Amino acid sequence: GTAVELDGVTVRFTTKQTRTTAVQDVSLRVRPGEFVTIVGPSGCGKSTLLKLVAGLVRPTSGTVSLQGRPVAGPQKDIGFAFQRAALLEWRGARKNILLQAEMRGMPRDLAARRADELIRLTGLEGFEQALPHELSGGMQQRVALCRALLHQPPVLLMDEPFGALDALTREQLNAEVNRIWRETSTTVLLVTHSIAEAVFLGTRVVVMSPRPGRIQQEYDVDLPAE
Ligand code: ADP
Ligand code: ADP
Repeated sequence: GTAVELDGVTVRFTTKQTRTTAVQDVSLRVRPGEFVTIVGPSGCGKSTLLKLVAGLVRPTSGTVSLQGRPVAGPQKDIGFAFQRAALLEWRGARKNILLQAEMRGMPRDLAARRADELIRLTGLEGFEQALPHELSGGMQQRVALCRALLHQPPVLLMDEPFGALDALTREQLNAEVNRIWRETSTTVLLVTHSIAEAVFLGTRVVVMSPRPGRIQQEYDVDLPAE
């Protein structure tokens, strides 16, 4: 099967003053369990590509499908993590993670089990009750990552998730993302502007170029042995 498929997708944004081709004739096929990283300079259409998959941007032409079904409108079952964690300030870490369960009406005991597993995987133990402002930026992103993964989404989309963090924290979080991906076999699409990060994380690296945003090259990355 195919987890994500874009076929000849072009997106044009038109405002009163400007007309921008954000992505042009992009085709991409992602198999279940793949970790695809999308790299390229600012403005090359990386975010637009993720939004297409999430159903938040509609193609001007071409088609997008998720697990074999055409994407028409916002996709509720995918996970999405952004550069800003966007946590609820008045709720502790664990309750922020469980927000996902409440929004989806997940069974409580299943949600609790998943939350505890993700808290363990991301090293958030001991911080379950901490409020966002009591957590470092890296810890806040861990909470956001757990929240995005709580319902075991078939596809996880990440848009520069750790871009605002210092290099060391980013390296730690990348290692955790890699471990979570290996343990859960989630299909991941991650956008970054760092080639080093793209190569470290991805099983496949998609390089985009701007004006208009196109796929320039794709590389398969050899996975290091465990
Ligand atoms: P990247 O994530 O690689 O920085 P984006 O996908 O955010 O690139 O943007 C690609 C191009 O499309 C840019 O020129 C950007 O200004 C433009 N763009 C993105 N979203 C919109 C929008 N909603 N309206 C108008 N132009 C947009
Ligand atoms: P920049 O973002 O300025 O391009 P680098 O290219 O040096 O910085 O590295 C970017 C990021 O790539 C690192 O901060 C880290 O998140 C990730 N990275 C690169 N190599 C590794 C690795 N071996 N283990 C974990 N993360 C890595």
